[in-house]
Amino acid sequence: MSMPPAEELASDRDDDYTVWIIKYGTRQTTRRELFLNYDLYGEPDAPATMDYFFWVARNRHRTVVIDTGFSERAAIARGRSMIQHPVDALASIGVEARDVDAVVLTHAHYDHIGNAGLFGDATLLMARREMEFWASSVAQKRLFAAYTEQDELDALAAARRRGRLELFDGSIDVAPGIEALELGGHTPGMSVVTVRTNAGTVLLASDTMHLYEQYEREMPFSGVTDLAGMYLCYATIRSMLDQGVSHLVAGHDPITLSRFTPSNVLPGLAATIGTTTTAVPAD
Ligand SMILES: [Zn+2]
Repeated sequence: MSMPPAEELASDRDDDYTVWIIKYGTRQTTRRELFLNYDLYGEPDAPATMDYFFWVARNRHRTVVIDTGFSERAAIARGRSMIQHPVDALASIGVEARDVDAVVLTHAHYDHIGNAGLFGDATLLMARREMEFWASSVAQKRLFAAYTEQDELDALAAARRRGRLELFDGSIDVAPGIEALELGGHTPGMSVVTVRTNAGTVLLASDTMHLYEQYEREMPFSGVTDLAGMYLCYATIRSMLDQGVSHLVAGHDPITLSRFTPSNVLPGLAATIGTTTTAVPAD
């Protein structure tokens, strides 16, 4: 029996997607910087890499982008290496930023909301608690503000006034098969996103879990607003995996791409999960 061509095997459902994991930046650091109170573990310090990603859920009907990376300006100011601009990376996979339908912002740190202004009329979505925190006076304290760019927070507030930023409480159905879920911990409104694919449901954990090791060994990240909340995230992720989530995608782990299907379009810089008809570039 001969197999049908790949395009016919691929799903054309409205509610499943190809998920793209795209690496756009990197930096060299140390384990002591990545893990909160690292000395408590009694382990030697060592060099470590932190990669920067954003994510795309795409099918024939729509494109949803999850986080927008850091801006070139923030990268220079902070000594981060931008490997490719997120908007250029999108173009490489056949997506024009202005054609994106919705952008979920998992939290308001500089490496997740830079470039949010480059997405035309796309609806921006973020947890209300996150927005309210960054507008509060305590967010001006150095240990919080260090992770943000004031002009980017101002741009979000302006987007809110123009009706482009939609705030949600708890969770929101972004589109059929895509849900954002507020978990807190790392930041007050830190959110994760689940995406249905024909290879199972994907959990884009973003910065609830910078590295797989942080989840697997319950070793929280150094930057945190609510430590108990961060531990609770690990338990929530574990129960989501027990309840049928098939793929766990960490926020900053250099091993992430090796866990999924490598992309031919952006070799070494992207991987995919799931197959839809749009996974095969048509034009
Ligand atoms: Zn981050």
